[in-house]
Amino acid sequence: MLILVVNCGSSSVKYKLMDMKEEKALLSGLAERIGLPGSRIKHKKNDGKELQLEQDLPDHKAALEKIIECITDKEYGAVNDISEIAAVGHRVVHGGEKFNKAVLINEELIDTLESLYELAPLHNPPNVLGIKTCQELMPHAPQVGVFDTAFHQTIPDYAFNYALPYEYYEKYGIRKYGFHGTSHKYVSGRAAAILGKPLTDLKVIVCHLGNGSSITAVKNGQSVDTTMGFTPLAGLPMGTRSGDIDPAIVPFLMEKENLSPEEVSNIMNKKSGVLGVSGISSDFRDLENAQAEGNKRAELALNMFIYHVKKWIGAFSAAMGGLDVVVFTGGIGENAIDLRAKVLADMSYLGIEVDSDRNNVRGKEAIITKEGCSTVAMVVPTNEELMIAKETQALVIK
Ligand code: ADP
Repeated sequence: MLILVVNCGSSSVKYKLMDMKEEKALLSGLAERIGLPGSRIKHKKNDGKELQLEQDLPDHKAALEKIIECITDKEYGAVNDISEIAAVGHRVVHGGEKFNKAVLINEELIDTLESLYELAPLHNPPNVLGIKTCQELMPHAPQVGVFDTAFHQTIPDYAFNYALPYEYYEKYGIRKYGFHGTSHKYVSGRAAAILGKPLTDLKVIVCHLGNGSSITAVKNGQSVDTTMGFTPLAGLPMGTRSGDIDPAIVPFLMEKENLSPEEVSNIMNKKSGVLGVSGISSDFRDLENAQAEGNKRAELALNMFIYHVKKWIGAFSAAMGGLDVVVFTGGIGENAIDLRAKVLADMSYLGIEVDSDRNNVRGKEAIITKEGCSTVAMVVPTNEELMIAKETQALVIK
């Protein structure tokens, strides 16, 4: 069975065609700068053949039409006809409280998704646009929505509620939702498989550390808490996002700097995090290089990030009453060897001791703690597309 996985952003479409027999991608690509000057498509087949199209893409429909041309191309494609694609799985950022699992899309569901726009104004509208456009261009294929928030719907009320007047939860749905759910679910499942133990018997902490970072406590296979919140701004400091700060700083800054709500939100989402602290870059490779050259603010930004990851591992171990596995994933988690070692330093109280040879690994599954540790640490590269394709397949086959 062939499943197309689609991730529509406001000006981009990422796609991957998955062969579910092999659980492998046949091709993948990215259409970017949609509706802007300089739009293009980067397309790659798994045999290494690459295509770079400088192409006018006025809207998402034009982008998806061109993507379908690439997928069915004799040289760069993987199918003769688009009808060979059995189903399309869409990444949808926000499922609110309405969706605790993936769903087969119908007209009624589109209305429900549209009712969630307020919760994710930047992400959900392009996601829904992608679904509608694929319905139009591939009417034969069932469309499935897979939500970033769904995995976290098992978080208990005492962990997802904010200590605000309760009416705001009732009126506006203000609560913790959590994000990166597809990644946390996939990675915790892989961790159990690597250990050869049932996930339902394990206490797992997944550290998804990338441009956006979040940590999730997965107890007996269910998300019981996560660091992101009402929006993906909460929790850890990130590339450009502040993560948790004292909420009183917001009105203070608005008054002092004469900022509108939009301006202050822009500062916290785009100008903060390790970029804001270092003044150099949001990319951890740049920060590590700057630190090596003696840049103190790069060092501070990295130390802050490491400290917060460490703190959440402790907090979630307490929340779960113990810890069996801590897993690193995402661009930073999979690649930043030194950072992982620093996060896990002085954790023998949790039964963790890093093996520096084993930890000398990038981008592949590996256990990085010493033999015999009571708590295992590991690296598991995330594969959100495979997870989306699997959930899509499960709904289509039923
Ligand atoms: P996204 O959240 O956009 O999916 P990724 O998970 O791909 O992002 O993570 C991207 C980040 O991973 C980069 O910004 C960079 O900071 C970090 N990264 C990638 N490779 C390395 C590396 N070798 N060492 C340290 N950090 C790295």
